[in-house]
Amino acid sequence: MKTIGLLGGMSWESTELYYRAINEETRRLRGRLHSAPIALVSVDFQQIEQLQHQDDWAACARILAGKARQVEAAGADFLLICTNTMHRVADEIQGAIDIPLLHIADATASAILAQGIRRVGLLGTRFTMEQDFYKGRLQEQGLEVLVPDDGDRGLVHRVIYQELCLGIVRDESRREYIRIIDDLGRRGADGVIEGCTEIGMLVNPAHTNMPLFDTAAIHARAAVARALAPD
Ligand code: GLU
Repeated sequence: MKTIGLLGGMSWESTELYYRAINEETRRLRGRLHSAPIALVSVDFQQIEQLQHQDDWAACARILAGKARQVEAAGADFLLICTNTMHRVADEIQGAIDIPLLHIADATASAILAQGIRRVGLLGTRFTMEQDFYKGRLQEQGLEVLVPDDGDRGLVHRVIYQELCLGIVRDESRREYIRIIDDLGRRGADGVIEGCTEIGMLVNPAHTNMPLFDTAAIHARAAVARALAPD
């Protein structure tokens, strides 16, 4: 089995989910006491979050490129950036290392298309919902992407940074998210991407009939499939 490289800590609440999901999938597929070879480097998210909100993506890219080199030096065969938002600087990170990146939007698009769904809603940070680095990548793969209106994008963004990244899960926020998911369904979405790696902590398939695509879980499973695939 190849070594899975993780660039984590964005936030650590979701990196913990990756670690568990990768090892559970490895045990499911390989049995006995098998667990996944993982090389993890975890950042201080306070610094990254400040740079994001100052629109200083170049500084984010420099920091994450350095951390990605550490993951590579630790023996990883390929790299996962454990956050949707920081795929904003995926090209810069890929340019700094010699191992391939397993892009979260590609893994997610494959999972959606495998279910025969073409029109999806997208929930995530404002950066993910509004900028082209993520939506554009989904659209290139044939998906039509709907996002909430401006007010609801603000709500979704605020809950991510002020609650979920701090490990706070509130029923009231879940009700709001479900209202927004229902609204996307009324506008024609046949599924909704949980396009922020912490959203699965708040809303899961027990809460709604809408098919949900939890990017952290999808990305983790795709990593195990890649690690077990022959070269
Ligand atoms: N984990 C989140 C995501 O998947 C948000 C945190 C971040 O800004 O990286 O986008």
